[in-house]
Formats: sequence, C-alpha cells, structure tokens
Amino acid sequence: MNSTIDTHIPDEMGFYGEFGGAFIPELLHPNVEELKTVYSNLKNDSSFKSDFLKLLSDYVGRPTPLYRSEKLSIEFGCEVYLKREDLNHTGAHKINNALGQILLAKKMGKVEIIAETGAGQHGVATATACALMGLRCKVFMGEIDIERQAPNVARMQFLGAEVIPAVSGSRTLKDATNEAIRYWINNPNSYYLIGSVVGPHPYPQIVADFQSIISEEIKKQLFEATGNMNPTKVIACVGGGSNAAGAFYHFYDQPEVELIAVEAAGLGLGSGKSAATSILGKPGVLHGSKTILMQNEFGQVTEPYSISAGLDYPGIGPLHAHSITTGRTIGVSVTDNEALEAAKSLSKNEGIIPALESAHALAALSKITLNSTDVVVVNLSGRGDKDMATYINHFTV
Ligand SMILES: *Cc1c(COP(=O)(O)O)cnc(C)c1O
Repeated sequence: MNSTIDTHIPDEMGFYGEFGGAFIPELLHPNVEELKTVYSNLKNDSSFKSDFLKLLSDYVGRPTPLYRSEKLSIEFGCEVYLKREDLNHTGAHKINNALGQILLAKKMGKVEIIAETGAGQHGVATATACALMGLRCKVFMGEIDIERQAPNVARMQFLGAEVIPAVSGSRTLKDATNEAIRYWINNPNSYYLIGSVVGPHPYPQIVADFQSIISEEIKKQLFEATGNMNPTKVIACVGGGSNAAGAFYHFYDQPEVELIAVEAAGLGLGSGKSAATSILGKPGVLHGSKTILMQNEFGQVTEPYSISAGLDYPGIGPLHAHSITTGRTIGVSVTDNEALEAAKSLSKNEGIIPALESAHALAALSKITLNSTDVVVVNLSGRGDKDMATYINHFTV
C-alpha cells in the first residue's frame, strides 16, 4: 500500500486526506482561530519548548524507560520492548498533553480551563495541570460515569477541580462533550483542553505534537539498546488515538516500520457490543471533525462498548482514520477477554499491572504474525491501579 511521507501532518485546513477539518458552530470560530495562531507562533519557540520539556522531566518523570521484556521476548520469539508510559506522574500518557496545553492556555492569558472526561483519566490529568499552574478547572462528566468512576471524581475534586455532571442523553462521555462545548460557546474566554487527537483542527495536531515525545524517546532509547533507531513494529491501543499518535509519530515517514493500532472489540466484532471503530464505523462528523465513527443506518452515533473506559469511544482521531484507510497503519481488534488475559499474564510474569487499555495493545502480540528478526515496541499507555476492581471481579468470581 501507499504510505505518504506526510500522513501525520494535516493541511492548512486541518485535513489528513479526507478526514479532519473544523466543523464547529460559527460562535466558536474566533476561539479556534486564536488557538491556531497562538500555537503556530509557539510551536517552534525555543523558550516554550524548553518550558514544556522541563515540566516533562522534573514533574512528569520523563524520559519513561524503554524496557526489554525477557519473558515476552521468549514467549513471542522476537525482541519485545515496553515503552513505560505507565510510570508517568498520574499514571498514563495523558499528562504529557495536559501540561503542553496548560502552557498554551497560560500564554493565551486564560484563567479558566474546561475539559470533558469519560473514565476520569483525562480529567485527573487536567485537574493536576491546573493545580500546578493555579488555574480554575471545570470538568464535565456524564452522570453515569460519575457513579462508575467515583475514585477519579474524588481525585479531581481533591486537586481542586469542579466536576459538573452532564445529565442529558445517555449521560456518558459524548454528553459530557456536548456540555463542555455548550459551556465554551457561552464562556469563550475559557480554554477547552481536549484529551485526545480528536476535535476540530488544530486540536488533533496539537495533541499529536505534545505526545510525539513518546516516539522521540523510543528512537533514542532503542538506538542505545540495539544500535538501530527503528523497531520493525510499534503497537499501541486506540481510543481517540493520542498514545498511538505519540508512539507512531516519528515512524510515520519510515515505511519499514509497521504501525499497529489496536481497537477494543468488546464482546466481539459481531456482538453489537464493541468499540472497533475503524472496522465497524463509517465516515461522518463527530466532535468537530470528519472521521470514522460508529453510527446506525440513519447516521446516528451508536453507543460503543468496551470493558476499558478509555477505549469506549465511538470515533477515532482523523489522523488514524486517514492512516488506517490508506494502509499506513494496520488496525487490529482485541476483545475484553483477550485484554484481561494479557493483563493477568504481564502482572504475573513481569510484575507490571497494566491499564486495561494498554492490555489491549499487549494482547495484539498474539494476533499478528511475528518473525524472529522482529523488534517490537508495545506502548504501555498507563498503569492498572484504576482497573483493580475490574481485574479482581473478573479473576476471582
Ligand atoms: C485514555 C487512555 C487511553 C486512550 O486514549 P488515547 O487517546 O487513544 O490514547 C489509553 N490508555 C490509557 C492508559 C488511557 O488512560
């Protein structure tokens, strides 16, 4: 298949091939334009960059290790490395982006940050960044999710954020997003901090840029370990796709590196309870950009399902929609049970309890063809503390 060099860089209007753009209400145009201008000025500003990198090293704990797993290497008959995003402050890759955007918001003179969250991981990262910078933080969250994710709600509140329940529709993530957008229209001076490579241009590009530190480090670390900067395969899970975009970023233009995006198949692709968007979805507009999304025959967004809250999203970022449909990235899907088994196995064999999302990426090792010459990097996007109740329920009853 054809892999274009610039598959990961959008055009002036924010399109990655046919996907992307900014499909937003007229009232939000000034906000998005302002963000575009400020970001394009700061993107290559050396003091902005060094502020960001300093936070990543001193506050987040980067670089995260690239760990060669002896057990997985033996099991799969090739070299298997884990990129340890689980070791970041707050437990996942999401803090990279939250801090980058907080610095942007500060430069823009904003005093209030808004965000939406499903499982609460992005909400916690945003509340953390706001506490650090002394900014007011409002997190919109579906009423059902507030009940399901009580520990993260408590964390956000303890960090000083206000958690606002979304009470419309199915009272989950997409309703929280609608509430956040409504609030933003009425309070255009607030800064909307989006948590994945989704939303209107320039958000997908901004989030991918901030997360690209992951593949920047992989290249350096792999070179130190093997004398070669490029693995043969990089595997990452995709909810909206920010950890995958970060792990793939500096390999998009290296056609010899195979990029494998893992989606949640839930109870199975044909079960009606799945979140494997790129396989089951069709083109449409979601949260301000054209992408692939799960919808019924009337174009209504359907409720996705995955045991992992971070992958339970009806769309994927436009960058991935483009990259998968052009064949540059290969889509693989993994069921709840396959992910649970992979989580158990890594915990028992390596002493690392992965997030359920990351366990999907690990499980993909069993679903692809591997050769003895393969050097595989699996992006371990987060740690499993938040998923302990699910693991215990599943494995002890
Ligand atoms: C939120 C989350 C994800 C999914 O989000 P992406 O934007 O697709 O990366 C994956 N892993 C963990 C640990 C998460 O918290």
